[in-house]
Amino acid sequence: MGVVEYDREGSVAVLTINNPPVNSLAVPVRGALDAALDRALADDDVRAVVLIGAGSTFVSGAEISEFGTPLARVEPLLTMIQRRIDAFPKLVAAAVHGTAFGGGFELALACHARVAVAGAKFGLPEVKLGLMPGAGGGQRLLRLVGPAMALELITTGASFGGEEALRLGVVDALVDDLRPGAIAFAEAALREGRQFTPIMARDDKLGEYPTALFAEFRARLHAKAPERLAPFAIVDALEAAFRLSGPEALAYEKQRSIDLKATDQHRALKRNFFIERAARKIPDVPETILPQPIRRVAVIGAGTMGGGIAMTFANAGLGVILLDQNPEALARGLKVIENNYAGSVARGTMSAATQGAALACIRGTTDYDDLGDIDLAIEAVFEKLEIKQAVFARLDQATARHVILATNTSSLNIDAIAEATSRPELVVGTHFFAPAHKMKLLENVRGRHTSPQTIATVMALGKVLGKVTALAGNCDGFIGNRMLQYYSGQAEFLLEQGATPEQIDRVALAFGMPMGPLAVRDMTGIDVNVLVRQARRKTLSPQDRLSDIPDRLFAAGRLGQKSGAGYYRYEGRQKFPDPAALEIIAEISRERGITRRSFTDEEIRDRLFFPIVNEGAKELEDGTALRAGDIDVVWINGYGFPAWRGGPMFWGELSGLSRIRDLAVRLADENGPRWAPSALLSALARDGRGWDDVPVSAAALADAG
Ligand code: NAD
Repeated sequence: MGVVEYDREGSVAVLTINNPPVNSLAVPVRGALDAALDRALADDDVRAVVLIGAGSTFVSGAEISEFGTPLARVEPLLTMIQRRIDAFPKLVAAAVHGTAFGGGFELALACHARVAVAGAKFGLPEVKLGLMPGAGGGQRLLRLVGPAMALELITTGASFGGEEALRLGVVDALVDDLRPGAIAFAEAALREGRQFTPIMARDDKLGEYPTALFAEFRARLHAKAPERLAPFAIVDALEAAFRLSGPEALAYEKQRSIDLKATDQHRALKRNFFIERAARKIPDVPETILPQPIRRVAVIGAGTMGGGIAMTFANAGLGVILLDQNPEALARGLKVIENNYAGSVARGTMSAATQGAALACIRGTTDYDDLGDIDLAIEAVFEKLEIKQAVFARLDQATARHVILATNTSSLNIDAIAEATSRPELVVGTHFFAPAHKMKLLENVRGRHTSPQTIATVMALGKVLGKVTALAGNCDGFIGNRMLQYYSGQAEFLLEQGATPEQIDRVALAFGMPMGPLAVRDMTGIDVNVLVRQARRKTLSPQDRLSDIPDRLFAAGRLGQKSGAGYYRYEGRQKFPDPAALEIIAEISRERGITRRSFTDEEIRDRLFFPIVNEGAKELEDGTALRAGDIDVVWINGYGFPAWRGGPMFWGELSGLSRIRDLAVRLADENGPRWAPSALLSALARDGRGWDDVPVSAAALADAG
């Protein structure tokens, strides 16, 4: 069978694209499609053409392996085929099942009509890679669905199903049986003499130039992420439909899409895909070491994290025993789980059947004797070493010899916890992020004695649970939280020097973080932070200091949202600037003899984010992180670092490692030696090299303790 099969049924020619697995538009397909159109044109018995995909899908998209290679430029290009179909004197209908994304959807959009099955999926997801449609997808979709919907769909890259496509006017008919249904559709159209105007010639959905709509949409994007390039380019291109002729608007859209391919944002988003895959590979844990099978797990502690972790396993279809020492806490935890699932069903994001299946996976207990038949236990009790050690000693006795004992600690020493057991090789950190059933990251932590098979098992577990997984060395804060303290630490020092909470949070939001660092503090509770600081102060060198601001806010009864005031004042969840907080901060500045001054947004941005890059480099030095990409994976998926910036390390290298080093020198002078430049970062900056020049850390392989 050729890559495009041609047969005729009555007066309809059926062109079947057959390029498994996804019928992508590779060079031979484009050539064969062009030839098949020639044949349909020449065949006088043919009055209509149906374009359909073989196997399970229409054309899913462009051929990824051709991206950036000369093959992508081999004619006929998709745009040439589209122009041909546009002007084709016989009806051309696309018949869509499976997925029609990107170039596949753009091919369907160039047809005169579209027929689909309800299960078909459509979308222009280019924005997710920092790109935009390059083969007229914007211009054509806009003319089908109108500017407001086109803006929404293309700037989010959202996909939609057959029913929605029919409602939007993207498809002309839904059929049950695709091929005969599409042929019948074409025959009926011929019989009834229906005229299909090529999309580029349609203006019924265009209407008047909606200047306010475009202005408002840009303002919305600006408020969310002012420096993202692709969404703004998409708005410009769609607006061109009102300013330029059809062919000019198509050319403009194409040019903007070509320009985006050369941006760092596209590079970053493309790289994210590869660093996620690379993060799963651990150099001293070869693939020949097979993970232990995990069929049933126990989660110890039915609080915030334990409940979320139990749901994560249940969602993946694994049996879970949820154990809490306190029967009331257990009942509360189980109730929260039930309510969470009920909420998903009410919102329509989960079916009642899936809810039932998930709930059936979870059983509660207060008795360690119930843990006889498990393969893995994950502990999520209070964050106190003695309590965790007691739990691990108990688990060591209560569970079979092969059972892996994991801890969800966010800061404690894995080796100290492992000491409480007779099986340190089976003890490991599995650090989930709150809410555990939603957040994408699983940060695993290896202790000094953790065996390669245990690591292989928890890395494979991430995949089973649908998480992005990275491995960290055992140190205070592991990869992510260890860096985070430098981010929030700088926020406090900036406050002492004259910046306001609103300015700092505004800069972080504009950078692309989901929340500002001080709003986060208010949300998680300043009291919680004060406890962490008490422990941290004990480990600091005499020259290092933490700002007193959180302690003083706490002493003034300002615990954050829960007490109605922290860095801000709250009415419900809404926050307002608070002169009382500013007064407490100004008093600390006075006491320390600091002259308060103003800061530019750029200065604040560098002060917040350069130090985390510096600390990331120290993690590479001491083996806490294996690769710069692993650090980026952790920050994008666990801390909301904007994916389109590629993570702190990628962004840091683009910003200039020597600038980061220079700031670190100054900050060490002002704040103490822990802010000093990383030796690795300094060496790279000196030699004009980058993270890719750093060999995968050898230190981590031996002992990151
Ligand atoms: P939590 O206070 O909500 O829940 C702890 C639960 O453990 C309670 O239900 C308590 O009854 C139970 N418990 C306490 N001692 C026990 C024991 N000896 N045996 C059995 N059950 C016991 O706490 P959390 O926020 O869910 O945090 C749990 C762990 O997860 C901590 O180590 C924390 O550092 C870590 N963590 C928390 C977050 C977060 O955002 N909350 C994020 C990542 C990691």
